[in-house]
Amino acid sequence: MRKTYLIVSIITVVTIFILSIIHLGIGLSIQSEGLTRWQIHDMNRPQPPVVAPGEASTQDRPGRPPSDAVVLFDGTDLSAWQGAKGEPAPWKVEKGYLEVVPKSGDIYTKQAFGDSQVHVEWASPEWAGDTFDPGNSGVFLAALYEVQIVDSVHSKIYADGQAAAMYGQYPPLVNACRAPGLWQTYDIVFRDARFNTGGKLLRPAIITVFHNGVLVQDHVELTGPTAHHQRPPYLPHPARMPLRLQDHNYKVRFRNIWIRELSEGQ
Ligand code: MG
Repeated sequence: MRKTYLIVSIITVVTIFILSIIHLGIGLSIQSEGLTRWQIHDMNRPQPPVVAPGEASTQDRPGRPPSDAVVLFDGTDLSAWQGAKGEPAPWKVEKGYLEVVPKSGDIYTKQAFGDSQVHVEWASPEWAGDTFDPGNSGVFLAALYEVQIVDSVHSKIYADGQAAAMYGQYPPLVNACRAPGLWQTYDIVFRDARFNTGGKLLRPAIITVFHNGVLVQDHVELTGPTAHHQRPPYLPHPARMPLRLQDHNYKVRFRNIWIRELSEGQ
């Protein structure tokens, strides 16, 4: 009996050790590939591409995206977006912003993206007195992983459903929410999950989020797609997927949405 217990313990420890090494190896291969490919101060190492930086937004005026960004909404039209079945995006554009049309459905970018830096600006509708999830919407990376949008000045929703939560998984580190009507920013760094050709998960999705410039998600590993009252496992999906904005029956507004796709070694 004692011998069996000892063998099981040894197998468990060895398995955990091997899994840790594999996990670490995948992480290192992405972060530090360049360290093995180039000598220190190697003059042959390519210089970083030049990007003209953008301009920050103010409450009165949307900023300007960096020069290499794919602009998804510049205040004029929804040509970069579509509905779930490929129909024209059913939300409203006016006065330089985009507004959710309740019960019209989520919208998706026509273009698909992999690892990326995403900038989204949003504003909650005027508070109508409800305290559960006023101004609920969301930004879904790869159409599957939701950075929650809600009016966290008034919301009494569970912590992992507040603004900038990874819905159902990680509350934001702090509540950096502005009042309804004011423009807010999400700046997101998203590293998508990796699957092998057989569909097996090699590495989970990893996300970092700044809310109004404040760090709220610090390189967190997602457990799988985000969902209500459940944490479903990863299912293999294409390396590039659309960005998705959520219609949750509130007239949330958006402006100045852009994305920069990131390469593996950046
Ligand atoms: Mg939501």
